[in-house]
Amino acid sequence: MFETDTDGIHQEAATGALPGWDRVEQLVQAAHDRYRGTDDGTVADYIPALAEADPDWFGICVADVAGGLHEVGDSAVPFSIQSISKAFVYALVCEEFGHERIGELVGVDNTGLPFNSVIALELNGGHPMNPMVNAGAIASTALLAGATADEKWRSVHDGLSRFAGRDLVVDERVYTSEAETNSRNQAIARLLQSYGRLDADPGETVDVYTRQCSLLVTARDIAVMGATLADGGVNPVTGERVVSAEVSRDTLAVLAANGLYERSGEWLFQIGLPGKSGVSGGIVSIAPGKGAIGTFAPPLDAAGNSVRGERSTAYLSKTLGLNLFASAEPAPAARASTSTALDSRSAR
Ligand code: GLN
Repeated sequence: MFETDTDGIHQEAATGALPGWDRVEQLVQAAHDRYRGTDDGTVADYIPALAEADPDWFGICVADVAGGLHEVGDSAVPFSIQSISKAFVYALVCEEFGHERIGELVGVDNTGLPFNSVIALELNGGHPMNPMVNAGAIASTALLAGATADEKWRSVHDGLSRFAGRDLVVDERVYTSEAETNSRNQAIARLLQSYGRLDADPGETVDVYTRQCSLLVTARDIAVMGATLADGGVNPVTGERVVSAEVSRDTLAVLAANGLYERSGEWLFQIGLPGKSGVSGGIVSIAPGKGAIGTFAPPLDAAGNSVRGERSTAYLSKTLGLNLFASAEPAPAARASTSTALDSRSAR
């Protein structure tokens, strides 16, 4: 179980809205102060360019569904979106084909294995299981609207930019670095093809996927992207509808089951929100109807999730009252009438 360090903190119930503006500002600052000095974790280096990240970078942004942004620290430092892109590509292909078709083709169940597992694919007869691991993400990218790889790239670039509310650009260094070293993803794409689960060209599909992972975002961007899913598919800053409310709901369900890879159960247990992490150190967590938290801190735990991101999100989920499973204590009057009803029933 990963550490969250929030045992003594009161769990606010997940009812109603976010606390008032000043309270959110205060808590976002408190989360940053609390974990700024944490130096656990290691910066990813399997994509060589990612190793250049400053381990001290730490940004947090809470975006609410009214378009308000609460930011602290390095919330405007750009980083490659990596696996966080998978959440939004899933939403785009779901919007295009409907959730049943994507459910059949890609699946919604956790593999229990690391994000780039080949064994998971073999164990399941070439079925990717879910769109948040590399196999399912590569299969999803292949489904993007467009007849050619260029058109598919335009679909993903345009779709992710609409989620962020600005024109996103590729980090060419990260793209080249991953493209030169991604033989494992190429193997996964070939394996999908061998099972008849990839219609597009495997090399071209992995290239679009690698570009998609290299798009630069900030903690603020991922918070706005997440808040779009919290807001029924409408970007709360631009007012533009990006996907439907149904697709937003489906995406959050898939994230709850799979967003933190093989740690998704622990994440739901500790934090109680759908979320998605990436190896460059970002995590987005979404509170339906309320907003989203974007965090960025490069050092990762053994499963590839940002340590300061996990801890600060756990703190904010508790103090902002976001955990989906935390109900409020019934008011004393309601409790009295419930116990009277129970007492009279047992007296019968
Ligand atoms: N581009 C990365 C990869 O495919 C994304 C992985 C991640 O963020 N977990 O390996």
